[in-house]
Amino acid sequence: MKVVGTIAEVREYVGAAKRRGESVGFVPTMGYLHDGHLALIRRARAENDVVVVSIFVNPLQFGPNEDYERYPRDLERDIALAETGGADLVFAPSVSEMYPRPMLTYVNVEKLSEGMCGASRPGHFRGVATVVCKLFNIVTPDRAYFGQKDAQQAAVIKRMVGDLNINVQTVTVGTVREPDGLAMSSRNVYLDAGQRSAALVLSKSLSLARRMIEAGERDAGKVRDAMTRMIQSEPLARLDYIALVDAEDLVPLDRLSGPVLIALAVFIGNTRLIDNILVEVGGCPPTASP
Ligand code: AMP
Repeated sequence: MKVVGTIAEVREYVGAAKRRGESVGFVPTMGYLHDGHLALIRRARAENDVVVVSIFVNPLQFGPNEDYERYPRDLERDIALAETGGADLVFAPSVSEMYPRPMLTYVNVEKLSEGMCGASRPGHFRGVATVVCKLFNIVTPDRAYFGQKDAQQAAVIKRMVGDLNINVQTVTVGTVREPDGLAMSSRNVYLDAGQRSAALVLSKSLSLARRMIEAGERDAGKVRDAMTRMIQSEPLARLDYIALVDAEDLVPLDRLSGPVLIALAVFIGNTRLIDNILVEVGGCPPTASP
């Protein structure tokens, strides 16, 4: 596996692979890799000749009072893990390599970026879409892999790819969880022991929502209220939002039907955690539980 820090080196590596007729899979990450990232890398490994993983904590997607400075970083460990997942190339650029001068050009995916995490984190999805667009132009992958864990991000990227005719196929990979149900996240490292057990309230409230829907509940407000009560009963948790939205256009629902995304963000201490499930309401059985 090769590790590079410059755009020119990525272009050279990928260019040579393409001249050999090889397909390129791409997994963009912010590093501090865990089994969720590895699921994306392994899927890319299975479906492509060459696998490129980027590791870049993108300042553009962090708000002024967010955790950009203290976001966990461990490049040596990430390089070893990426290799075990089957990556061929790790691209770990500096901030000045990605942003050599002030940006004047941004990608803004309207509507999809505005609710849910976008409402709590203004500018976040503009930062995400812009850096992913840059990375797509650098790596020129055939396929790119994103986690269902960040469902809104996956929807924003898919829409950007469609609207801007970017020649890449996006693949969404299911959320990887700890054995007790907590969705894996680089930010879980911030949690102390008490917060770690309090953090289970996210997946538990999603399981509650699923059970209510399976029992026939179709009123989104009632599901949201029950989830809210459960989160409020956890003293270390502070609710940011709960959303029950159409899984495709992320528009809030009053009555639940079709593919429904149930997503939430909760502060555990200062750590903001997100999670979601997809539920097919009516007809097909629901998807994998947390
Ligand atoms: P991040 O490094 O947090 O920006 O995540 C990089 C990619 O890994 C994104 O597409 C995430 O959605 C995905 N990812 C993060 N956590 C998980 C998880 N627990 N399961 C599956 N994918 C994940």
